[in-house]
Amino acid sequence: MTDEELLALAAEYGFDCAAPLDATKLEVLEDVRDACKVNLCGQYNKTWACPPAFGDLEESRKMLKKYTRGLLVQSVQTLEDDYDWESIQALGERHGENFQRLLARIRELYPDCLALGSGGCKNCKTCTYPDSPCRFPDKMVYSMEGFGLFVTQVCRDCGIPYNHGRGTMTYSACFLLE
Ligand code: SF4
Repeated sequence: MTDEELLALAAEYGFDCAAPLDATKLEVLEDVRDACKVNLCGQYNKTWACPPAFGDLEESRKMLKKYTRGLLVQSVQTLEDDYDWESIQALGERHGENFQRLLARIRELYPDCLALGSGGCKNCKTCTYPDSPCRFPDKMVYSMEGFGLFVTQVCRDCGIPYNHGRGTMTYSACFLLE
């Protein structure tokens, strides 16, 4: 698929902003990966899609090296104020649902695509980690930060902002295709 076709697909699946991604520019950073251990998101050591379930930084580098291009997608919401939790929650749900729908479509064309989201995989109420294998490996969404990717920089490199201004909230995620 061309970049233009991928952007059209992102819009069709409800994303507010999208950009082609040059996967050769992705940089894995120790500091980002280390920040996961602080566990601010509560997902560290909780799912197959977050550290330490998958390998160390070297493993992340090896996995990312397989890809040369991708698609960055964002969902953006205007908030009534900083405490507009209802809109933030609705945004998270909309983003997750659209991402899964687009992932299913993209997998038809790129079966080996790598799905990376902000935060851990939220597909199941309770993850099977660490007792049994992932229930839905095709739907698993790895954490961008868990891979050591500085999401702000990834957005910048793609030419779109990480944050769309005061009074808004943005969720970012990406697909690495080939
Ligand atoms: S799909 Fe379910 S079992 Fe697999 S990593 Fe995500 S939450 Fe865990």
